[in-house]
Amino acid sequence: MALMLSYYPARATIDLGALSHNLQRVRECAPGKKIMGIVKADAYGHGRAHVARTLIDEGVEYLGVAQLGEALALREEVGDGTHILSWVFSQGAPLEDAIKKNIDISLGAMWAIDDVCQAVKNVRHGGQVNACARVHIKVDTGMSRGGFSVEEFPEACEKIMRCVSEGVFHVVALWSHFARADEPESGTCEKQCAIFDAAYEQACNMGLDIPMRHISASGGILWHPYAHYDMVRPGIMLYGLSPSPDIATASELNLRAVMTLSADVMNERIIEGGTGVSYGHTEHVGENTRVGVVPLGYADGISRLASSVAPVSINGKRTRIVGRVCMDQCIVELPEDVHPGDKAVLFGDAHDNVPTADEWGSVTQTIGYEVVTTLGARVPRVYVDRKETNV
Ligand SMILES: *Cc1c(COP(=O)(O)O)cnc(C)c1O
Repeated sequence: MALMLSYYPARATIDLGALSHNLQRVRECAPGKKIMGIVKADAYGHGRAHVARTLIDEGVEYLGVAQLGEALALREEVGDGTHILSWVFSQGAPLEDAIKKNIDISLGAMWAIDDVCQAVKNVRHGGQVNACARVHIKVDTGMSRGGFSVEEFPEACEKIMRCVSEGVFHVVALWSHFARADEPESGTCEKQCAIFDAAYEQACNMGLDIPMRHISASGGILWHPYAHYDMVRPGIMLYGLSPSPDIATASELNLRAVMTLSADVMNERIIEGGTGVSYGHTEHVGENTRVGVVPLGYADGISRLASSVAPVSINGKRTRIVGRVCMDQCIVELPEDVHPGDKAVLFGDAHDNVPTADEWGSVTQTIGYEVVTTLGARVPRVYVDRKETNV
């Protein structure tokens, strides 16, 4: 990576000071609650190991990733001492590795109870005689994605209790996920909480000991304080984007963008009015337009939907992409006094007077989450701490 960096004319600068600031914002919104920092998908494209290390140094006790493979890689990166939850795996997955590495596992289907139970027994037969799985029981309260349905929940609890009494499971939490936390007016979070509370009560009445509950991701943390329970699971707000810029922008929420995507302007050229630009000549420029090439394209995760619309800032001046985004490059209109070698910022923090990933999401028919998460693996990540260096 270090070698690549010196050749690469673009980079995603990752400000770990901004990450710490955003974590502090989570703490202000959910005072006294445990925090599970969500670092799935390479920490939303920011680089899992660096993000995880920063969160741990700041006192975060739990990390969450989707896939088991991510959880195992994360365990190598952070060592023991931090709890890691994984919730995406299919029937027949090699759960033994996760149990040996003390990965917390989500239980949200009948087959998962059997699979995890069997895996613990396999690990015990392999010599780790005290092996036990730390499990978070997931109930589907309205997302219609993962988790036990309300109907199957009592049967699931019975089954889980048998595993607990055999010492095979240690129940850590009951958990769920909101479908519309970014639409506070919808009233769905309140309904999901009612279902969540009823499930909790039911499980307790059956004799299951449930030490913790968690349901809120960033939207819940910001807009549903009654839903913080014992632990919250921030993802996007840690990265300094808003879960819903329509409700409040990141800067209105006092969040700081962690990622700034920038690239060197490569060449400049003045083209005659009416000249077609890029593949398909989908755009024809006005009289004597000065354009430059920016070395980022859809191979780097710059959506073709950014063609002709996405904003770019160069030397503090706003411009935009002209014509179609290519695989490795795109073309931008050059503001006055901008020349090759100047730095084009595609998105970053609003306080730096540059476009944000949320703005990119809005003009490319998606959300800021997807803009940062799909940034190509080949773009070097450069880690800085602006709190310390005061850049
Ligand atoms: C991704 C995810 C989160 C974090 O969501 P944000 O909206 O990014 O805060 C929390 N919990 C689960 C289960 C997730 O899949």
